[in-house]
Amino acid sequence: MNHPALWKNGEHVSREAAGVDVLAHALHYGTGVFEGIRCYDTGRGPAIFELAAHMRRFERGAQTLGMDIDIDELTNAIIETVARSGFNNAYIRPLAFYASGGLGLDTAPLSAEVAVGVMPWTSHLGEAAENKGIGMHVSSYRRNSHKSLPPLKLCGGYVNSILAKREASLAGYDEALFVDDDDWVCEATGENVFMVNNGRVTAVEHCDALPGITRSVVMQLTAAIARPVSLKELLSADEVFLTGTSAEVVPVSNINGHHYGSTPVTRELQHTYANLVRGRESASQGQVAMP
Ligand code: PMP
Repeated sequence: MNHPALWKNGEHVSREAAGVDVLAHALHYGTGVFEGIRCYDTGRGPAIFELAAHMRRFERGAQTLGMDIDIDELTNAIIETVARSGFNNAYIRPLAFYASGGLGLDTAPLSAEVAVGVMPWTSHLGEAAENKGIGMHVSSYRRNSHKSLPPLKLCGGYVNSILAKREASLAGYDEALFVDDDDWVCEATGENVFMVNNGRVTAVEHCDALPGITRSVVMQLTAAIARPVSLKELLSADEVFLTGTSAEVVPVSNINGHHYGSTPVTRELQHTYANLVRGRESASQGQVAMP
């Protein structure tokens, strides 16, 4: 088995040495921020895709929680940990969380710990589902409102995604689709939503959705426009697909049993994106080559 490579508070550590206190604040309240980043094996060695954009979003989350994190140190730690891991295709998890200092809700006395985990890459939604398209369940849960929780990668916010995902799995679907009280489409549990009509690509826009990094890249690749989309409009689209760092570009085969036909635009985009992240395309400025 391939063990993850870990770094914590300035040192490369074993999993045992990285252990977490059961009284850690984040374990009780979800007071942490993380990122999900990928490293791809390219023709010129492993390269981390869009590292700077991920670290900017991470920094916004840390600031929201009042954490003072040295982003340059963390960025270097990521690059070093990936290099030490020996994994050319990897999933990278930086995390900052409140650990010790008590269980009070005032974070002022707390200190943040910082960690990086690097794991060999395995498919997020399952390769079979990613190839044949995934079935989505319109969730009975609402996405965290941006008025209650900013759409950032704050740990506690993911309980909302987990509940929707559980509901979708129990109903026999691969993934959940969040819509709001007025049936405007928001996002999936860990991906953004797009639709295709007559070959034109539209990115679903919603103030409660995470501004995805893959979404930005795909919008540039497809010259997509972003606008609010109702569930009714999504159901009548030619194609629907999801984007995310883990999922990349994934076709949606059906929503609540409403089936979509062939997905030629999505299939082509899957290849274009796969080539881009592996440095096989000229437009690979997003890559950070490894030392
Ligand atoms: N929405 C949510 C809730 C997510 O967790 C993710 C994954 N980070 C996304 C969308 C897609 O974002 P990205 O393309 O930056 O991975």
